[in-house]
Amino acid sequence: MHILLVEDDSAVAASSLDGLTALGFTVEHVTTGGAALAAVGSPRPPDVVLLDLGLPDMDGQEVCRRIRSGSETPIIVVSARGDEADRVIALELGADDYLVKPFGMRELAARIRAVLRRTQAPPLTAVPTAAVQEIGRLSIDRRAQRVHVDDEEVALTAKEFDVLAYLAEDPGAVRRRTEILEHVWEGHWYGATKTVDAHVAAIRKKLGDPAWIEAVRGVGFRLGSP
Ligand code: CA
Repeated sequence: MHILLVEDDSAVAASSLDGLTALGFTVEHVTTGGAALAAVGSPRPPDVVLLDLGLPDMDGQEVCRRIRSGSETPIIVVSARGDEADRVIALELGADDYLVKPFGMRELAARIRAVLRRTQAPPLTAVPTAAVQEIGRLSIDRRAQRVHVDDEEVALTAKEFDVLAYLAEDPGAVRRRTEILEHVWEGHWYGATKTVDAHVAAIRKKLGDPAWIEAVRGVGFRLGSP
């Protein structure tokens, strides 16, 4: 397992390196965003990126965005900034998890393993994955992760697709924001329910009609049919 540690603080880097190596991970350590982007774009990219947000050459959020624009490599943001706004931003830029400093090595290792399980395992949904689900004019192909309205393909991000597919598991049923967070982001974003609203807004816009996803005041969202 090849981990890219992006961290400019030498004390934090040294303890992470020692701990992860002792747990059997192979760790490559870089101290800048530029070096991180080069490593992710190299012929042998890492399996997981541990990304500090405060870097000397560019903001970690920008690094996250750039990695995600060209790769699906899992990213765990590791930061001293623990407030909700930072978590939401990192999440929306495509980070897979968020760990606030200071953290224990066992927690870090558990998060790494969880991210790898999520990204390498088949989807957890019990809905038949081979079938294309048709809901009115909407079709959802879980195997190919493609969505069409009528015959027009709708370009959703991976998380937007997951939110829509989750609502579509039981069309018309209301899902709470916390249920959506737990299902799509596996609970590591507890409290960051605003991000669900942001994803729903993006999906509605891309589907071309807000009525596809109805807000149920004070509860959550359900798949509608315009
Ligand atoms: Ca730093």
